[in-house]
Amino acid sequence: MEFKSDIEIAQEVEMQPITEVAKTAGIDEKYLEQYGKYKAKIDYSLLKESNRGNGKLVLVTAINPTPAGEGKTTTTIGLADGLSRLGENVCVALREPSLGPVFGVKGGAAGGGYAQVVPMEDINLHFTGDFHAIGAANNLLAAMIDNHIYQGNELNIDPRKITWKRCVDMNDRQLRFVTDGLGGRVNGTPREDGYDITVASEVMAVLCLANDITDLKERLSRMVIGYTYGPVATQKPVTAGDLHAEGAMTALLKDALKPNLVQTLEHTPAIIHGGPFANIAHGCNSVTATKMAMKLADIAITEAGFGADLGAEKFLDIKCRMADLKPNAVVVVATVRALKYNGGVAKADLGAENLEALEKGLPNLLKHVDNIKNVYKLPCVVAINRFPTDTEAELKLVEDKCKELGVNVALSEVWAKGGEGGITLAKEVLRLVEEPNDFSFSYELEGSIEEKIDTIVKRVYGGKGVVLTPQAKKQADQLTAQGFGNMPICVAKTQYSLTDDQTKLGAPKDFEITVRNLKVSAGAGFIVALTGDIMTMPGLPKVPAAVKIDVDENGKISGLF
Ligand code: ADP
Ligand code: MG
Repeated sequence: MEFKSDIEIAQEVEMQPITEVAKTAGIDEKYLEQYGKYKAKIDYSLLKESNRGNGKLVLVTAINPTPAGEGKTTTTIGLADGLSRLGENVCVALREPSLGPVFGVKGGAAGGGYAQVVPMEDINLHFTGDFHAIGAANNLLAAMIDNHIYQGNELNIDPRKITWKRCVDMNDRQLRFVTDGLGGRVNGTPREDGYDITVASEVMAVLCLANDITDLKERLSRMVIGYTYGPVATQKPVTAGDLHAEGAMTALLKDALKPNLVQTLEHTPAIIHGGPFANIAHGCNSVTATKMAMKLADIAITEAGFGADLGAEKFLDIKCRMADLKPNAVVVVATVRALKYNGGVAKADLGAENLEALEKGLPNLLKHVDNIKNVYKLPCVVAINRFPTDTEAELKLVEDKCKELGVNVALSEVWAKGGEGGITLAKEVLRLVEEPNDFSFSYELEGSIEEKIDTIVKRVYGGKGVVLTPQAKKQADQLTAQGFGNMPICVAKTQYSLTDDQTKLGAPKDFEITVRNLKVSAGAGFIVALTGDIMTMPGLPKVPAAVKIDVDENGKISGLF
């Protein structure tokens, strides 16, 4: 069967002017800053000035995925359209796509099929310029660091210990390691440097966790850019504040901090804002976007990146803790193909029916459901995101097994049918958000860095515990001595497994997680625990998605997916 591409579907729908969408969302004109006909920013003073109560908050997460993604964004959008069809006042909150994946392997990130946000071309390309502003702020700080050294280095920064990198919103492996400052004394101080993709910049994480301009400025000022000369024991962290960069950086970011309003294909209001990495950062849209969605609607639906072990864990343990958010329900997206993948089927064979593998993969789903219900104590429903390749027997098996085990489950057909295909899920979500819950974190902030990671490994991943390499142990001691010991933990590990080994699928037991590196993101306010080398500047594949993207004389874009 031939299907229309996402961009074809998106271009066939007649969008409402953004002023109409703002009306639906109840946004007073004075808070709306239009970016053309179909996009707008919402002034954050609405959050402070509105006296409306907060709506409910629903998180969409997933089981451990296949490399293609399991449809969290698609389900988030379709669920919201389903709720709209039931007459509910609902708003979506999502991350902004990065240009890297758009031109790389994954393509866009504005949903799929009949569950998309539009204008998808704009959302996927530049949008309202937030990422460029973040890149500019990041690179302003980089320029100020090297200039400080050039001008005499009063702060005694060791150029070999600078941790701040330059950034660009592109998959460009050529820039991972660079030598700059070449050309003699007048052209700077030569040093080894490097680039990250913009979404990996701490400025992105900071923007997404900031509550307002003041908080943004304070967080930027706390960011560590490197260390002073001297032996490790006496070296001191140097911050953006030491360089007096926070004011100008915040000035560059003042509009980027405002959430962006767009619409779904069915004209449900959608706020799309911020997009931090889900490994070295927390992987969710901005706090301002989530709060705005809750302020505007009775139900806000939001997504967290990767599987629930990373995405939901960080959403709940980091973002909700920092922003004082209390979710009302969680949707765990599962697909037949990801269950088969977790059951050991190779990527190339996922299209063929395989009930045995499907059943073998189920423990992965059950572990995530168990975490949501028993660790975080939140109501939970499994959404089976139906793919065209799924057979009736496969769908029935998942549903039957879930019901047998007392797990709430709903078939979601939003990719093929839009909001209509999300009504069963929407009804279940409406029921769940009314249930009282005892929302808890998986760990408390007291306790050592090692203890906190150990708790995550045991409670959330289902492993035996954490092992810190001697290097990581030393770093834990240093970070604690520097006063960073009471921060939450942001684990950077593979998204494909509950372990730190992407080949261990399903729901492994008795494994250890090895943390090789610990670093502080002092502005974001978390300790990053790295289990291996995490790529912060991706490369393009052999045939990049970019080679198929084009634009005609009228400005109509094609080939984006
Ligand atoms: P995630 O947010 O979990 O990464 P997305 O919602 O972005 O996943 O979906 C990943 C890809 O899979 C997108 O290209 C989307 O169009 C496609 N997709 C999602 N759900 C379905 C479905 N039910 N059938 C076919 N393709 C789907
Ligand atoms: Mg997504």
